[in-house]
Amino acid sequence: MRSLLTATTTLLLCTIPALRADSLPNLTVLLSVDGKASTAALNEMKSELNSIMKETGRNLDVRLRSQAAPNETFNDVVLVKLKGTCKMERMIPFMDERGPLAWTHSTDGAILPFAEVSCDRIANAVAGALWGGQRKQADMLLGRAMGRVLAHELYHIIGKTHEHNADGSLAKEAISAKQLISDKRITFDMRDLNRMTP
Ligand SMILES: [Zn+2]
Repeated sequence: MRSLLTATTTLLLCTIPALRADSLPNLTVLLSVDGKASTAALNEMKSELNSIMKETGRNLDVRLRSQAAPNETFNDVVLVKLKGTCKMERMIPFMDERGPLAWTHSTDGAILPFAEVSCDRIANAVAGALWGGQRKQADMLLGRAMGRVLAHELYHIIGKTHEHNADGSLAKEAISAKQLISDKRITFDMRDLNRMTP
């Protein structure tokens, strides 16, 4: 009996790669923008977010809240408020602009599908980490940083967890400004992905 069970399990596992992309659960991320935003930053944020979240087995649909139809319905939706100026307007960081880069809300301990991202704080961190020729790509790098920060918040929301990962994945509690803009990818590890498994 045992070998039969193994065979059945193997068969089931083999069906996973054959899942059609359109049968994967969708997650819609609707953005609202408070202040000025660079198109380059927003585009890069979407692309970074898609690339990171692909590993969670979800199709991501990221767009502006204003682009959603008034009576549109969603399987799964997260609202994201981009606060402040999502554009690199100055390259010198203000030392007093410290604090969380983003946060979620919860009621009775349950995390709500709503995140706020501080573009001002992320831009400030990016300004402090830019080096040489990177200044020419400042808005793109800001977008990359925003994508990484937002992916971290989605981890909390999708994984329904307040916990962080001490092992240095994107689910860790604090990230350096250098890591936010680095060409080297930062991803979730197996434990994080399991938490976010649909
Ligand atoms: Zn966190």
